[in-house]
Amino acid sequence: MRRTIIEPFRIKVTEPLKIIPREKREQELIKAHNNVFLLPSTSVSIDLLTDSGTGAMSTKQWAAMMLGDESYAGSPSFRRFERTMRRITGMKHIFPTHQGRAAEGILAITRTRPGDVVPNNSHFDTTRANFEFVGVNALDLICAEGLDNETPAPFKGNMNLERLEEVIKKYGRERIPFAMITVTNNTSGGQPVSMQNIRETRALLKKYDIPLVMDACRFAENAYFIQQREEGYADVSLYQIAREMFSHVDAATMSLKKDGLVNIGGFLVCQNDDWAQDFQNMLILREGFISYGGLAGRDLEAAAVGIMEALDPEYQNYRHATVSYLARAMEQRNIPYVKPVGGHAVFIDAKAFLPHIPPLQYPGIALVNALYLEGGIRSVELGSVMFGHYDENGVEQPSNLELVRLAIPRRVYTQSHFDYIIETLDDLLRDRDSLRGYKITYQPKFLRHFTCHFEAL
Ligand SMILES: *Cc1c(COP(=O)(O)O)cnc(C)c1O
Repeated sequence: MRRTIIEPFRIKVTEPLKIIPREKREQELIKAHNNVFLLPSTSVSIDLLTDSGTGAMSTKQWAAMMLGDESYAGSPSFRRFERTMRRITGMKHIFPTHQGRAAEGILAITRTRPGDVVPNNSHFDTTRANFEFVGVNALDLICAEGLDNETPAPFKGNMNLERLEEVIKKYGRERIPFAMITVTNNTSGGQPVSMQNIRETRALLKKYDIPLVMDACRFAENAYFIQQREEGYADVSLYQIAREMFSHVDAATMSLKKDGLVNIGGFLVCQNDDWAQDFQNMLILREGFISYGGLAGRDLEAAAVGIMEALDPEYQNYRHATVSYLARAMEQRNIPYVKPVGGHAVFIDAKAFLPHIPPLQYPGIALVNALYLEGGIRSVELGSVMFGHYDENGVEQPSNLELVRLAIPRRVYTQSHFDYIIETLDDLLRDRDSLRGYKITYQPKFLRHFTCHFEAL
């Protein structure tokens, strides 16, 4: 056996990747008000803003797209989609949606009432927003290890079962229409959830007759972590592990833009016939007829092929090797990052990287912008800009953590691209004392990180 894990694909179609001159990058960043969300993607060389919908499709997916049947109703493309999603999830009812958040919106509108409480290990931001929009209290109940950035643990994405029981006792079964479990736990850095934790969450909820819904966006990456780290699963296939994960829940939402290996798509699946009736009515109202749910027939075909490819062990080996490769190189160069790395991204600790920049001068933004200026690399801040808030006296409060996320698109970049990223980080680390913070010169009322303007101090 060779030690090098190679990309399990070769490249048939290429897309130009240009490195524009540094002076041009400086101009572009100023035009974008120093906010990388406002940059045109053509001015970015390596785009690590997100792993959502940014992956490359396989020859089999592109071929399947030609088979897309665009009939309004009864399309065989839907039947293939339905059969595949049922094969993986074991669910009776399968509804396609245009994205994950559409599935969440339908779930929130149909199955909750204002004043309800929905616990989760960690709600993703669109999930939280969909619940809060309908007056539901969305609670994060991550395990203690998940809150500790320093100490490695195998399943830092787990649900805190003691807190879950406290919440159930506090609010009562009547106010908790269901609980959720997110795999992998995106908000806590793509950290995995163990099968034992899924099983125990299910058992606890069953005692109180509360259903469990999985946010399954990265179920295949989570299955890989279970196979690698949890006792008793080393010889179980990723497909069988995924089947078991879904067997412990009553319903699931998914963004197929993650482990569906497509650029657009999602689903909402469930066992219960009453839930399915509600979902169906709302799907038709908001997304489209039940046999396409806001997607084209060709999108359904591509997702049905892609989601099976995500369960291919060679693909998952490669996927995790890319993230580990980046993390290992950072370790060797003393670039501070959150350990252990999760499935889809590496999180740099900007507070430790730039200790001279105080939180309210946004060290995360300083690093994000430096990565762009130095290497044309686009990343995202998860710190005081994204999570900071104003207290009752109107005083800005920083976030606990100042992180910069390098999210890795699936099957897009090769090892030399990763070497280039590492080299850029290394150069920045050497010159870090010269980096300065930023101040905000314009911000909208909500979700300010997307559109606010910065000025260098
Ligand atoms: C991306 C994501 C969503 C939302 O999916 P969209 O397709 O972007 O609407 C929900 N939950 C998690 C965990 C995600 O990563």
